[in-house]
Amino acid sequence: MKTRFAPSPTGPLHLGHAWSAWMAHDMARAAGGAFLLRIEDIDRQRSKLEWEDQLKRDLEWLGIEWDAPPMRQSERMESYRAALGDLWRRGLLYPCTCTRRDIAAAISAPQEGAGPDGPIYPGTCRHRRPDHAERQMAPPEDAHLRLLMREALIGTTETLRNGHGGLPFHEFGGVMGSGTIWTSEADMEAKVGDVVLARKDFGTSYHLSVVLDDAAQGITHVVRGADLFEATPIHVLLQRLLGLPTPDYHHHALVRDAAGKRLAKRDDARAISVYREAGWTPEALRARLQESLIAPEP
Ligand code: GLU
Ligand code: ZN
Repeated sequence: MKTRFAPSPTGPLHLGHAWSAWMAHDMARAAGGAFLLRIEDIDRQRSKLEWEDQLKRDLEWLGIEWDAPPMRQSERMESYRAALGDLWRRGLLYPCTCTRRDIAAAISAPQEGAGPDGPIYPGTCRHRRPDHAERQMAPPEDAHLRLLMREALIGTTETLRNGHGGLPFHEFGGVMGSGTIWTSEADMEAKVGDVVLARKDFGTSYHLSVVLDDAAQGITHVVRGADLFEATPIHVLLQRLLGLPTPDYHHHALVRDAAGKRLAKRDDARAISVYREAGWTPEALRARLQESLIAPEP
């Protein structure tokens, strides 16, 4: 078993991160496996070396050790661009220069509950799909690159008993219990749509990078928060498109505040360092979270 913790160094780690790291770490240790660290710093504007140093110190204080030098996404752009080039040559990507506002304006009817990636892209730029000659060149870097969802599903899904196609992954433990989770092709089109695989400003995307990195690190079990459950079918689709194995997934419950709200991506008031400075021990913190998953007052 190989698990990982994959924080973004864009601010201090909070108690929700601590719980996630403990889950992934302890699961690997219990199985005699390996636990790896990955620094998700594709957002070069917001990622800072100071935060990276700080998060390593926080993890050490929590008693979490990783088994190999951390992987850093900022050092893996070549792999990301190679995968994008592959998908581009296969005619599965197209450039898009729409802004959020363009997309909102192009969506005529209000969408019920947007998908894991925000509103479903209305397809404005689909006519820009590259022709055969363009596909022989490298994909443009001055536009977002979107996946043609309908085409991407062809040949990647498995046929269910009802005759419809779907994407399966195996969930173990966690808030969703254990079993095979199927996402239908119809849901991929209606709830995900033409997802962005390379942001113009990043040169890649969370979805693409996470899939390539999990494969490169040999992750067998992805342990992460339930907030990423809905992103998982996107990752499974990319794994199938790129010929990569699909790990098993465990989406754990999220740490909440006293009002029951899950901690925000940034929650400096519940930063690990705040608890440390207030005199908490990692053991006491761990015991409190195990009781209720409600972040105590520092
Ligand atoms: N970097 C992501 C985050 O901090 C986690 C990615 C993942 O676990 O797949 O939310
Ligand atoms: Zn567009």
